[in-house]
Amino acid sequence: MSRRMTHDLAHGLAYGLTHGLAHGLTRGLAHGLTRGLTHETTRAQVVKAEAGAEARPDRADGVPGDRPEGRSAGGGGSGRNRTVLISGASVAGPALAYWLCRHGYRPTVVEVAPALRGGGFAVDFRGAAHLTVLERMGLLDEIGRHGTGGGSAMSFIDGQGRQLATLPPEFTGGDLEILRSDLSRILYHHSLTPAADGHPAPEYLFDDTLTSLTPTPDGVHATFARTPSRTFDLVIGADGLHSTVRRLAFGPESDFVSHLGYYVAAWDLPESAGDLAAAPVGYSEPGRTATVGRTPRRSAEPGYVGEAFCVFASAEELTHDRRDLPAHKKAIARAYEGAGWRTPELIDTLRAADELYFDSISRVDVPCWSTGRTALLGDAAYGATLGGMGTGSAIIGAYVLAAELAASPDDHTAAFARYEHRLRPYVTQCQEGGRGTGAFLAPTTQEAIDARNAALNDPATRTAMLQQGHDLSTAITLDDQPPGEPALHATGTAIATAPGTAPGTE
Ligand SMILES: Cc1cc2nc3c(=O)[nH]c(=O)nc-3n(C[C@H](O)[C@H](O)[C@H](O)COP(=O)(O)OP(=O)(O)OC[C@H]3O[C@@H](n4cnc5c(N)ncnc54)[C@H](O)[C@@H]3O)c2cc1C
Repeated sequence: MSRRMTHDLAHGLAYGLTHGLAHGLTRGLAHGLTRGLTHETTRAQVVKAEAGAEARPDRADGVPGDRPEGRSAGGGGSGRNRTVLISGASVAGPALAYWLCRHGYRPTVVEVAPALRGGGFAVDFRGAAHLTVLERMGLLDEIGRHGTGGGSAMSFIDGQGRQLATLPPEFTGGDLEILRSDLSRILYHHSLTPAADGHPAPEYLFDDTLTSLTPTPDGVHATFARTPSRTFDLVIGADGLHSTVRRLAFGPESDFVSHLGYYVAAWDLPESAGDLAAAPVGYSEPGRTATVGRTPRRSAEPGYVGEAFCVFASAEELTHDRRDLPAHKKAIARAYEGAGWRTPELIDTLRAADELYFDSISRVDVPCWSTGRTALLGDAAYGATLGGMGTGSAIIGAYVLAAELAASPDDHTAAFARYEHRLRPYVTQCQEGGRGTGAFLAPTTQEAIDARNAALNDPATRTAMLQQGHDLSTAITLDDQPPGEPALHATGTAIATAPGTAPGTE
């Protein structure tokens, strides 16, 4: 087997497959696009922030009369006590809010959903850097207590239900696995916990969205769908793959998000599905895979019988409204027409689904993660949909970004540059891992399906896959924590920092 294929398989196994197939993915994902984005103002007045606008302010008139209490009077001069608007309250947003408060900033988090999103798909943390950041946040134990307890085995089967290959449980759980919704809730509450030094907690604005961002001489003026407009010192987009901040401040999504040739769909099975998901199994035909499974941690939920998770190849991007549930269902049903096993029964359950996660497997590439006083974090900056260790990268990114801002409170431009310089090589590697996820989950030829199954059945290949997943997750390390000083920096094997650009780290 080629090194490339082993590499792709490793990442598919470690992230996309294991968490998609073995643990189910549905409600949190379903909330993600089809419901949450209904609150987004699509015809908002959009004023695109221009790169470097603050260096040559062409809106010297600014936007008067809206400076919130506590905002620094002069950009870049007064250091701490800065106001930061964060868009998105999932993983990256609350994590950044937590750290910024600890560094003396005053973050406001706006979330388009009316409340923290619920839902059941599992995400994991892998390697020392992920765990170290959680530990430094004081969350390692709590996340462990609320974890799923690890993965479970899953079988690939043929049309008659006979087992062809097994995905062993050690592939599925990472070092620490938790439902994304539990993680988000823990991060949110933790960010609201008062700091020992008395810094105020972040402000959360639910059920709202940004409608425009306008650079002013010393800040960014933000308008919202509901909340009165304000000017903030800094704005951070932590609002996911389809980021609104990115669209408002950097440009259209099509400039930054590439379709990788596959679609993913996930939904909760209705009670009428009976025993369909009694055992975690996956059925593949060229270009399409359908799986079912149950997440033990969700077993007490009323009416819960399991979830469906499907991946199919589609070279063409489907052109439909991301909020159009009936169109999504039709597209999925079309993709599985004529499929064997119990796939028709599975696809039939779509009819009862009132929530559905459906999106292309895509990758985000933003040439520069900041423009003026606005920067991107998490999936908005470096997302990969599946297989890119997005949760751990979001947590590390929040930690590094906050630390860099604190390291030069008078110079956000330098802080943004260091944040990107330190993180980009690592997250790019993680994204590369995600590149093979679709092909692993839904190989487009029978030969490739057979090769995947053979790889899963071969102990040596499995060991190599696990090792590659481990190597990737440890491709970043963190500095030792100076006593009493939370401002830490990411360094690591993947990051060659130019001398003089990153004080205190080398
Ligand atoms: C099927 C699937 C399985 C995955 N499995 C794993 C895994 O096993 N391991 C792993 O590490 N990662 C996994 N990931 C990736 C992981 O979910 C993301 O990388 C991670 O959640 C990124 O966090 P984020 O906070 O940057 O973005 P998101 O979690 O996408 O959150 C974005 C937030 O912004 C909000 N928002 C959107 N638009 C607006 C707006 N206009 N205004 C305000 N708020 C807005 C959204 O409602 C949401 O709350 C998986 C992803 C998918 C889709």
